Amino acid sequence: MKNLDTKYVSLPKGTWGKCKKCGHVTYLKHLDRQLGICAKCQHPHPLSPKQWFEAFFDEAKYSLISVPRVKEDPLNFSAKKNYKIQLEQAREKTGESDASLCAFGLINGLKTVVFAMDFNFIGGSMGREVGEAFLAGVEKAVQEKSAFLAIPVSGGARMQESTLSLMQLPRSILGVQKLREAKLPYIVYLTNPTFGGVPASFAMVGDLHIAEPNALIGFAGPKVIEQNIRQKLPKGFQTAEYLVEHGMVDMIIPRDELKEKLGVVLSILMKKEQV
Ligand SMILES: [Zn+2]
Repeated sequence: MKNLDTKYVSLPKGTWGKCKKCGHVTYLKHLDRQLGICAKCQHPHPLSPKQWFEAFFDEAKYSLISVPRVKEDPLNFSAKKNYKIQLEQAREKTGESDASLCAFGLINGLKTVVFAMDFNFIGGSMGREVGEAFLAGVEKAVQEKSAFLAIPVSGGARMQESTLSLMQLPRSILGVQKLREAKLPYIVYLTNPTFGGVPASFAMVGDLHIAEPNALIGFAGPKVIEQNIRQKLPKGFQTAEYLVEHGMVDMIIPRDELKEKLGVVLSILMKKEQV
């Protein structure tokens, strides 16, 4: 799996990887079969959008929803790295054009649009193309009268696109509003990690918020908050379990149980039988 650090393993790159949390060395094909969950400590490693689609759509069949391309690097941004070069490197690493993909297919026989983000693409940051992908998914869901499932994983807004990136917050909220007006269910599956502008917008306004176990979800990171409020944060702060206890998340479902449980939820919300 691409998102595991393999540099400490003296075997061909791309065959073995180490768990980011506990250091457990694992055969990457095993990790793929476990949907990115470490067998030793259960740490959830980010999956790519296509891995999510293959795991959830019936018989791993789906069609990708085309996303309007945006003008690249409109601000000609350069900080430590040149943004254009960053984009090129991220595209080479992931094989995708930006940090999200949207697909349409059946989940347990029920029509669903799935919007999934990619942490390997500049930390799953939300720029204009991510906003376009979300809205393209909304249009498709409205047209097909289908449910919409969002699977965020993100470090936040893409600072290289400045205000244009921040504009995706209200744009995505307008997309959710369109789903509401069409009376279509909007479900969010919060994965590890989801931070910044994404939980400040579409990721926290679902009809149902499901999170994966051990996921870290929040706006600012714990160090920044501690420095600001000058207090020690409670144990388990910003974990999925803590957020369920405090009413921000409705339930926790592990990745390998999500397809089955989603089928039940979608059939109730769409008033249709599962197949
Ligand atoms: Zn581990």
